[in-house]
Order: sequence, then structure tokens, then C-alpha cells
Amino acid sequence: SYDEDYLHEETFAETKRFSEAFNKMIERFKVLDESRQEFVSNVSHELKTPITSMKVLADSLLAQEEVPAELYREFMADMSEEIERENKIINDLLSLVKMDKTTTDMNIENLNINEVVERILKRLRPIAEKQNIEVLFESFRPVEAEIDETKFSLCVSNLVENAIKYNHENGWVHVSLNADHKFFYLKVTDSGIGIPKEAQEHIFERFYRVDKSHSREIGGTGLGLAIARNSVIMHRGAIKVYSEEGEGTTFTVRMPLKYVASAK
Ligand code: ADP
Repeated sequence: SYDEDYLHEETFAETKRFSEAFNKMIERFKVLDESRQEFVSNVSHELKTPITSMKVLADSLLAQEEVPAELYREFMADMSEEIERENKIINDLLSLVKMDKTTTDMNIENLNINEVVERILKRLRPIAEKQNIEVLFESFRPVEAEIDETKFSLCVSNLVENAIKYNHENGWVHVSLNADHKFFYLKVTDSGIGIPKEAQEHIFERFYRVDKSHSREIGGTGLGLAIARNSVIMHRGAIKVYSEEGEGTTFTVRMPLKYVASAK
């Protein structure tokens, strides 16, 4: 009958919709699982690299009966560097875990952002000076906002550290702070090497580095911008990059003045 046919068709369409939604969900889980697996495999790889180097260095010292003092010192210095690198990766990983909104609570305070930024710059200026890089801070107005200081500071210091690291000798870093009635805006501009267009969409990914060998030389872990982005997201802010290769880079951070807890 007509009714039966109609019901049959409806049921069929409903089943199809359901199965489509189900497949979509499975696909989503797959993507999530893949990215977790990829993360774990990346972490393992990054943690293993310094250990492998240390093992080679230790073994080659052990293989020699008499090690000249100079060679011994050289190998030990290399080992110390690898240990430092391992330390950095572990610290960054811990920061990243702390930035996971599903596991970490926000410690929100109403803070003077000018002071927070000044404190970070004071700590980083000596590092910049070693490369003859000038770090300027320009504040257009006093800013008060509700933020988690530890998390926000990690964002700012990662941005400024990068602006120093990927810069030229005698370069500059310009940090500016502004606000309107809803947001404050932090801008970090540098006179550095810049980021190729095709890399710009990837730099916030964990472990992504534009030039692996160069970044390794500079001592990067590839986690700094992932940490910065997570920090901004946890405050419901936004972060963007503008860069010209060979000319320099600007990161802009837009943060709400009033904190609104995000749905977990
Ligand atoms: P890293 O520990 O390698 O610095 P990040 O996550 O902080 O990792 O940055 C990812 C990559 O983005 C860096 O390896 C570098 O290639 C690029 N990058 C980040 N900031 C800058 C910058 N200010 N100028 C040029 N390149 C940058």
C-alpha cells in the first residue's frame, strides 16, 4: 500500500542518516586517535634523540683505554648539552600538559598586564643582549585583565624567546600592548628570519619546526608555539601570525579583559 511504501522509505532514509552520522563519528574518533598516536610517537622520538647521542658519546669514551683529557672534556661537554636538551623537552612537555583544558583548572586573577609583560622582558633581556638584540616595550595604556598569570606568561615568554632566537645579530624585538573596552592586544614583532608562507599554518602544531637542523642548532623543541596557542585558547583569546621571509615576523594575541570559563 501507499502507507507502507511511505513508511518503508522513511525508515530507509532514517537508517541512512543514522549510518552516515555514525560513520562520521567513527571518522572523527579515528582522526583523534591518529593525532594522539602521532603525538606519542613524536614524543618518544624527541625524547630518544638526546639519549641516543649520549649513549654514543659514553660508549665511545668507554671503548678507549686511555682517553686524552681534552677529548674527555669535549665529549662531556657534548653530553651535558644533550642532557640540557632532554631537560628542555621534558619541561616543555610538562607545560603543554598543564595547558590541556580538560585536565587543568585556571587560576584567574585580575592583573596589571603591563607589569606582567615587563617582568618577562626583564628576564629575557640579558639573553637578547648576548646577541646584541634590543627588546623594546611600548604600552599604549595601562591594562588590567583577568588572566591566569602562569599560563599567560608562558605564552608571552615563548613568543619573545622565539623573536630573539630567530633573529639576526643586532636585530630588534618590539613588544606592544593596547586595549579597547573588551580586549587587550599584545603584539610581538621581530626583525628576524621570517617564516615561509607555506609553513605559517603549521607552526602552532606540536613539534613542528620550519628548519629542523637550524632549529636544533638554536635549541628548539617545537613545542613553544603549541604551548602559546593553548594558553591563548584557554583564555578564549586568539593568536595570529604575519610574516615575510627574510624580513621578520609579527605575532598578535587578542585576549578578553574579562575571563569567561569555557565549556569543558
Ligand atoms: P621551537 O622550539 O623550535 O622554537 P616553536 O613551537 O616555538 O618551536 O616554533 C615552531 C617553529 O616556528 C620554529 O622552529 C621556527 O621555525 C618557527 N618560528 C617561531 N617563531 C618564529 C619567529 N619569531 N621567527 C621565525 N621563525 C619562527
